[in-house]
Amino acid sequence: MCGIIAYIGPRQAYPVLIKGLHRLEYRGYDSAGICLVNQHLDIYKCKGKVSDLEKFVADKDTSGTIGMAHTRWATHGEPNQINAHPHISQNQKLAIIHNGIIENYASLRSELINRGYKFKSDTDTEVLVHLIEDIQTQEKLDLEESVRIALNQVIGAYAIVILSEDHPDKIIVARKGSPMVIGIGKDEFFVASDATPIIEYTNNVVYLNDEEIAVLERNKELKIKTIKNKIETPYIQKLEMSLSAIEKGGFDHFMLKEIYEQPRSVRDCMRGRINMEKGIVHLGGIREYEQKLLNAKRIIITACGTSWHAGLVGEYLFEELTRIPVEVEYSSEFRYRNPVLYEDDVVIAISQSGETADTLAAIDLAKSKGATVLGICNVVGSSIARATHAGVYTHAGPEIGVASTKAFTAQVVTLTLMSLQIGHLKGTITRSRYHQILTELDTIPEKIERTLRMNEKIKEIAGIYKDVKNFLYLGRGYNFPIALEGALKLKEISYIHAEGYPAAEMKHGPIALIDEQMPVVVIATKKGTYEKVISNIQEVKARKGKIIAIINEGDVTVKQLADHCIEIPETEEMLVPLIATIPLQLLSYHIAVMRHCNVDQPRNLAKSVTVE
Ligand code: GLU
Repeated sequence: MCGIIAYIGPRQAYPVLIKGLHRLEYRGYDSAGICLVNQHLDIYKCKGKVSDLEKFVADKDTSGTIGMAHTRWATHGEPNQINAHPHISQNQKLAIIHNGIIENYASLRSELINRGYKFKSDTDTEVLVHLIEDIQTQEKLDLEESVRIALNQVIGAYAIVILSEDHPDKIIVARKGSPMVIGIGKDEFFVASDATPIIEYTNNVVYLNDEEIAVLERNKELKIKTIKNKIETPYIQKLEMSLSAIEKGGFDHFMLKEIYEQPRSVRDCMRGRINMEKGIVHLGGIREYEQKLLNAKRIIITACGTSWHAGLVGEYLFEELTRIPVEVEYSSEFRYRNPVLYEDDVVIAISQSGETADTLAAIDLAKSKGATVLGICNVVGSSIARATHAGVYTHAGPEIGVASTKAFTAQVVTLTLMSLQIGHLKGTITRSRYHQILTELDTIPEKIERTLRMNEKIKEIAGIYKDVKNFLYLGRGYNFPIALEGALKLKEISYIHAEGYPAAEMKHGPIALIDEQMPVVVIATKKGTYEKVISNIQEVKARKGKIIAIINEGDVTVKQLADHCIEIPETEEMLVPLIATIPLQLLSYHIAVMRHCNVDQPRNLAKSVTVE
């Protein structure tokens, strides 16, 4: 996953690189490293976070106006100083940073070892820098051509930056399967894994496409060619992101800021898409594919992690509103199991970053089998947005906290709008029901706002249970995916083991876990299976489990049974996930903070999973 940043221009490179690494640190934080080009390649790297690198570099020479830096999420080789990027060639003249996995690294490595190359690290990345040196010296080719030929031998995914001592005014960049953005300023270039480190310098960016190599040279135009040697004209786009959107804005953590942004992000996701006066939904991004959705025999939703939970909510929505059968698939399973797909299937791929490697592969597979593929992504211009036939952006704004919050609610809003629109066009819901749901959807931002006022109460509950070893989350119907999501949030950031279950399934196994130590979070909102959930609460109480119930405001029945209650406003059953998920996000947040966990950068995780 790794974060990559590089700079060439009139400024001192080091401050630009360090600031950029901080912005990209959500992508990985196993180690960090930097390379500046002066007379030689000055490389500094260490295990740990960007702040550790800063301390390590404090007394070193950081001059130079060209350089690159990396923050690693290890795939091959443990997170230590030696495996940290940059990696250097045998002749010490080339340095590389890499995001991705070189899948055929083992065979390349043994060939290079036979030719006398000595490997310092356990990474897959190091083979590439030796391979480029080997091609350069054996075949007497220039650097660009050697990189191109080397990349033709590589199987796997990469976003790479290469610096050379012999070319102190040049940066070579390439990508396949991992993201890379080039910022174009006045007499300067920036390179990064995403646009967040670039926007404070320039709005003009070029998203590199797969199998493209870019050459950035001082005082020259940007040059791009493919690894098949075809020259491409750079397509410069204007970014619309603001700097304040990627800063903490007074909150202690990005995660808390993003939880609190949800009234706004949900509103932004709906903005311009619902015409209340005319009572219609308009999703411009999929307009041309509406007919495909209307005629779809089946919808397959593919995603990973939190997006997969949004997909489950989508299944309930689409089936209820459009009567089209829906399957929800983990992208990592779907891509490898030769699924049965027909041309009248519509696949919906969901990913916050739009870079999730398994979901990208699932999209390719679905397309190769003739299905129509639509995307739901947050990051504009991302690989998934470009790989799908059409799609809808969630417009939640940049999400930096590794545990997804506002992107999830925006995904659920998007799925609600899509299914409402199709249900309406198909006539599977009545006009008045359609209007009723739209009108209720419009009140959701205000209801999320009201739910956020439960924060202090949730903090109190967090204080009581922060030291337990296990949690159970139960929900039924639309609230079942929310139980899964609540459990995932807790696991991710507080490292407490948690399971999400359909409440009624509890008696087929997990009920054996319940004793007086076990807190059970039950989403017990009115409507749907409310009465049944009350019975499930009784079953837990009978075994002395502790109940933390998410209830509707004013509910006295559950209040009498539960140990703690968090009240949320009432809404349509199908819209409850948008509200019920908020207290679960806050509960996991406060527990993690009280356990002194690093909320924004939980161990072993990274924000966008750009490797398999
Ligand atoms: N495979 C490289 C490593 O382990 C890069 C990892 C990544 O991009 O996540 O160092």
